[in-house]
Amino acid sequence: MLGRMRVVLKLGTSVLTAGTDRLHRPRLVDLLRGMAAVRAAGHEVVLVSSGAVNAGWETLGFPPRDRTLAEKQLLAAVGQGRLMHLYATIAELYGLNVAQVLLTADDFRDRTRYLNARTTLDSCLLRGVLPIINENDAVATGQLRVGDNDTLSAFVANLTEADLLVILTDAAGLYTADPRTHPDATLIPVVERVTPEIWALAGGAGSHRGTGGMHTKIQAAEIATRAGTPVVVAPGDVADALPRILAGESLGTRFLAHGTRLEARKRWILAEIAAGSIMLDEGAAKAVVERGGSLLPAGIRQVEGEFERGHTIRIIAPEGREIARGLSRYHSSDLRRIQGHHSREIEGVLGYTFGPEAVHRDDLVRL
Ligand code: GLU
Repeated sequence: MLGRMRVVLKLGTSVLTAGTDRLHRPRLVDLLRGMAAVRAAGHEVVLVSSGAVNAGWETLGFPPRDRTLAEKQLLAAVGQGRLMHLYATIAELYGLNVAQVLLTADDFRDRTRYLNARTTLDSCLLRGVLPIINENDAVATGQLRVGDNDTLSAFVANLTEADLLVILTDAAGLYTADPRTHPDATLIPVVERVTPEIWALAGGAGSHRGTGGMHTKIQAAEIATRAGTPVVVAPGDVADALPRILAGESLGTRFLAHGTRLEARKRWILAEIAAGSIMLDEGAAKAVVERGGSLLPAGIRQVEGEFERGHTIRIIAPEGREIARGLSRYHSSDLRRIQGHHSREIEGVLGYTFGPEAVHRDDLVRL
């Protein structure tokens, strides 16, 4: 009823283990049958799957859960192959081929890698192969990591210009309060906008097996809806959740997309967590908001955070409101030195110049 859609489906560890210690085969069978069904109905599915760390933990005989990063990386390296083996075996029952695509934060930051990943995913979909994405945990630490698969799934939704992001989890959706401690809490069926009130409902992390909780789901919803992709956070233990959602049934919480769908390059700019912020003066803020003009160092009052050239940063108006995001043409330490200066002074201050703009208008997305 909703037409053909490209959907990104995110499955967390708590869904894949169905509340047990191990990846739950019957649950995987149900999920893959659902994916096969929606594909047979003409939709495209891109899967973002956790579960590698858990699979590694099973394989190594359930060592004590000391969650250092090094230990997680070991478990993920052991478990990723096992996870894919399971997926491939079960998918075959439904005549589906699967592909493994491991991504990490750099693949979204670097335009060439981003475009390469997009081409590979497009090729998979074109050939009817189900791409299964996870973070490349074995190589990524610190700043290089996306860190959780909810956020990763939102980046993937951006990357693939998905029509819908479905996050299946061990909660029934977003509630007015934590249902584990507030029995009278009710489900919120639709969220029009991710406001501070919505953030306040997120509470802490959820289960101990996965990384996320409602917090990372709301973060994912914010990233995806801002670029024009609606998000559904729904329970993973309901039979046929994905086919039912794609058939238009209201399940869980739906976060509505705002604005129009952004062009691909602008999606890319929004496809990473901002590394820092710059606060503008009145005039510069006006130029950005009203004319979408480039941002010059002269209009910058303050620079927060450490970022490299080419990283996405938040652009903040004097009253504290975020008005845009953009790619910085200068390193944060350079920006601090040239803030308030006329562009023709840049070379004198730094000894070099990357051009008159701090953020060029082509690299700017107004919010
Ligand atoms: N990449 C991790 C895994 O496969 C999951 C990260 C997360 O739980 O969000 O186990």
